[in-house]
Amino acid sequence: MSIIDAALSANATIADGFDPARGQPPAPKIAIVTCADPRLSNIERMLGLAEGDVDMIRNFGTVIDDDAVRSLVLSTRLLGTREIMIINHTDCGMLRFTDGEMEDRLRKATGQTPLAPARFYSFTDVEENTREQMQKARSHPWIAPEVPVRGFVYDVKTGRLSEVFADGEQPAERMVVTHFIVSDDVERSRRFYTEVLGGTVVFGPEPTNIALANSFIIINVGGGPTDDKPTVTLETPRDPDRVSSFVNIRVADIHAVYAEWIARGAQFLTPPKQHEYEIRCYIRDPDGYIIEVGQTTNPQGDWWPAGWPPIEPGRVRTLAP
Ligand SMILES: [Zn+2]
Repeated sequence: MSIIDAALSANATIADGFDPARGQPPAPKIAIVTCADPRLSNIERMLGLAEGDVDMIRNFGTVIDDDAVRSLVLSTRLLGTREIMIINHTDCGMLRFTDGEMEDRLRKATGQTPLAPARFYSFTDVEENTREQMQKARSHPWIAPEVPVRGFVYDVKTGRLSEVFADGEQPAERMVVTHFIVSDDVERSRRFYTEVLGGTVVFGPEPTNIALANSFIIINVGGGPTDDKPTVTLETPRDPDRVSSFVNIRVADIHAVYAEWIARGAQFLTPPKQHEYEIRCYIRDPDGYIIEVGQTTNPQGDWWPAGWPPIEPGRVRTLAP
């Protein structure tokens, strides 16, 4: 007898004791994305959550792909879940192969090269992968920013969860500072921030969200007032020589960066100039925004001017050349 046939006949008996109350419309409170691995089944029990409180979204590898996003959007917007947990786990099967190996194997076995799936989402570092999935869910414009997205690794040997924090994110302060720029040509701007400055697109194209070093640059077209800023119009600089705010990129070796970025087409205003505590120069991005690029030259690392209040050791990041 096939497993399905056995399950069907078991169901006929088990359903005799079914509680009709379980057929009520659901009112889940939390969405959980986790792996299809059987060791993650009934994870809600390990979390002390009632079955009915959880929208469980499962796939191989705990991936925030198009389909997981679709479920998260509907779960939070239609069913009213208020928090999102992404639960990866140790010993995941997706750590055991690369996408390329799997594709080769399947191509050899079947002689076919289909269009889908475009990716298997294998990974090598479970925490890093969790961070990537958190970022994809957090940056999606249809998942409301007030819905917390937190990531975890479930240890299959102990049943314990450990939380994964985004790079630079402090456990106590769940906040990330990003920089928003208005662009007349988002695609041109995307090329500059990825191909010249070396950022990575984590979401796009509307808005385009680029991970750059420890922060994010969000690029979008301008536009008229919205109900939350009724007198404000977003536009690119009218006069690129009058500036009131700019991105400041600190680098470990400004001469290397200068040569590299010039070769990739960056428009510097001047070559790097030595100032008291730093060597610096400025770039103009394709929309005319100024970007400072600086290297701190104090041998102790990032300088702290005399007379400023002392800060805790370890809070100033030193860029090792
Ligand atoms: Zn897994």
